[in-house]
Amino acid sequence: SISHQIVIVGGGSAGITVAAQLLKQMRSLDILIIEPSEQHYYQPGWTLVGGGCISFEATVQPQQTLIPQDATWLQDKVVQFDPDQNCLHTQNGTQVTYDYLVVCPGIQINWNQIKGLQEALGKGEVCSNYAIGGATHTWETIKRFQGGNAIFTYPATPIKCAGAPQKIMYLADEAFGKNGVRKKTQISYCTATGKIFGVDAFVPALMKVVERKGIDLRTQHNLTEIRPDQKVALFAVSNGNETETISLPYDMIHVTPPMSAPDVLKHSPLAVEGPGGWVDVDKFTTQHNRYPNIFSLGDASSLPTSKTAAAIRREAPVLVQNLLAHMNQTPLMGQYNGYSCCPLITGYDKTILAEFDYEAQPYPSFPLDATKERTSMWLLKRHVLPWVYWNRMLKGKEHEGNFIRRLLPNTAFELSKKA
Ligand code: FAD
Repeated sequence: SISHQIVIVGGGSAGITVAAQLLKQMRSLDILIIEPSEQHYYQPGWTLVGGGCISFEATVQPQQTLIPQDATWLQDKVVQFDPDQNCLHTQNGTQVTYDYLVVCPGIQINWNQIKGLQEALGKGEVCSNYAIGGATHTWETIKRFQGGNAIFTYPATPIKCAGAPQKIMYLADEAFGKNGVRKKTQISYCTATGKIFGVDAFVPALMKVVERKGIDLRTQHNLTEIRPDQKVALFAVSNGNETETISLPYDMIHVTPPMSAPDVLKHSPLAVEGPGGWVDVDKFTTQHNRYPNIFSLGDASSLPTSKTAAAIRREAPVLVQNLLAHMNQTPLMGQYNGYSCCPLITGYDKTILAEFDYEAQPYPSFPLDATKERTSMWLLKRHVLPWVYWNRMLKGKEHEGNFIRRLLPNTAFELSKKA
């Protein structure tokens, strides 16, 4: 059994960022990061891998090089939380006790909830950027595609990066055009939800893209089964009270699988009451609603925003400020505003930088109309953000948007919302 002052569960985008920021504030903190994976993935890069812009290898770094020097890494997996005893248990049988706990093991992908998917995935015409390394197969599938039906799906659960299922579709559309097969192709976007994107402010701009590209948008279409030998996909289609199953033939299909809170959380005392199973935290302070020495952020938390690495960039400083305040027994002053960002790639030279907050209002980093397709935002997504992730975010450095906001008056951003 081991004991540390602060234990961080998960060394992904959230865990490394929080550890780095905490140590920047106070080098003497005793921090343990529990993370099973040898590798750390820059998942936002997987859309670029699937679109053939970068290699999968460019999105991977050894975990060892990212764990801050003054933190300790336990390469293991948490299998049980016991918050009433301030302890947890790992797969290798270690009992870890803590004074403070930060919980960020990410979201769980439930491949097996779609019949036939696990067997078909990564082979032939079935691909997913959501699988580790899967985006390489996506690009191979797009390159090989000779025309016919190309289907892109969105599931009936919360997912990470709600824009990713359509970004890869827009890149595929252009790639098909370049390869001369677009004219003999029908592209369908089959989403289990009722609209193209969850944040209304960006819907009109995206609907224009869908129309321009001639994409067949099918709402309330929930993928339930894949039959790779017949090359058909089954969808539960609901209209009002009734649900019927329809089958669509495909010549390629990009699947965004159902996701959920990790099982280890779902059945733990940390989870929200009722469905979901996310870590039950206050939406402004990131502190646990029942265990004040526990905080959570990122995909595994109950923070009611769009699950992205960009959101973590703004959650982390709030969590760090509040955790340190809690340790010093002073009031928690940090308030997270729900900021999240999804760079909606709409082509090989265009992106809508969708930045928004809890009110589902645009919260732009730049004083520009946030709902517009721009080449500058494509260049940002393609060339700048990967560098920012490795060299600034994971090193605990401040959000670049803050510099711009300090330079310009607030009114510049207010006007940009209405532009
Ligand atoms: P993760 O980064 O997933 O890390 C969780 C870590 O916890 C992992 O390292 C895992 O090994 C570890 N872990 C799991 N279980 C346990 C356990 N029981 N014990 C200990 N450790 C555990 N975000 C953007 O901001 N912009 C984008 O454009 C974007 N595009 C995306 C495209 C794709 C295809 C995907 C898949 C994601 C995209 N994201 C994007 C989302 C972004 O990657 C995630 O929101 C972000 O990585 C979440 O960080 P996290 O730390 O919560 O989880």
